[in-house]
Amino acid sequence: MEIKVANSSGFCFGVKRAIDLAEQIAETNKEVYTFGPIIHNPQEVERLEQKNIKVVEDYSKIENGVLVLRTHGIPLDIYNKLSEKKNIKLIDATCPFVKRAQDIVKELSSDAKTEQIVIVGEKAHPEVVAVVSYGNGKCLVVEDKKDIKNVRKTDVIYIVSQTTQSQKKFDEIVEEISKISKVKVFNTICRATFDRQSAAEKLAKEVDAMIVIGGKNSGNTTRLYQICSAITKAYHVENVDEIKKDWFNNINTVGITAGASTPDWIIERIKNKIEEYSI
Ligand code: SF4
Repeated sequence: MEIKVANSSGFCFGVKRAIDLAEQIAETNKEVYTFGPIIHNPQEVERLEQKNIKVVEDYSKIENGVLVLRTHGIPLDIYNKLSEKKNIKLIDATCPFVKRAQDIVKELSSDAKTEQIVIVGEKAHPEVVAVVSYGNGKCLVVEDKKDIKNVRKTDVIYIVSQTTQSQKKFDEIVEEISKISKVKVFNTICRATFDRQSAAEKLAKEVDAMIVIGGKNSGNTTRLYQICSAITKAYHVENVDEIKKDWFNNINTVGITAGASTPDWIIERIKNKIEEYSI
């Protein structure tokens, strides 16, 4: 059985930057926290915990130390409250691409003429929740086509994307909203997401099965799985123990891809396991 790895997969620039920052800080500080998991990958979060980088979900419980803000960003009101805490040093590891989406929404919403900003993304995803917080109450989240009924007819509808949205879905939703009013589109899908999705789609067309590696709570990994499973047999796994030998019966070629929050060491372990099964 041949094993092919997608040209673009695994850690992206934003995730690598956040983890490097947290690890550097932990070398010289005893109390290092991340506000929520720094990335959506439980195994990597566990590895960081062993380096004494702890996850806190409730920021009011910490009084001292360094608090690293995750790649997805945090809501503006919480950011402001944290900034007031004198004994907490904030390190903002929000990915610059997420920051760009926040800045666009902030600028648009500060214009009195802006009536409606549509965010194409998952309503409950931390990145979307944070981006919406910059919108001064003018944002509407459209998760899929059924939410389009909530979009109002206004002079201009501004549309911004969750950074990890699938390009295809974004284009389809933009097309539908364009039928309601004039639109102004800000495509804030990040390059890393676009590259990983294109590479996964290309590889899925060449193989008999795809293994998609990444956190079950990772939006961008789930999107890779959706893209691959629409083309070929696909399995979404988080760790090596989930790999089953019988998946590879009668398979000649298997492809591997991984979400932007999946570390190389997990990809390598899984690749080795598949190699064992291919003998
Ligand atoms: S997937 Fe894109 S937006 Fe998200 S952390 Fe990585 S580079 Fe940044």
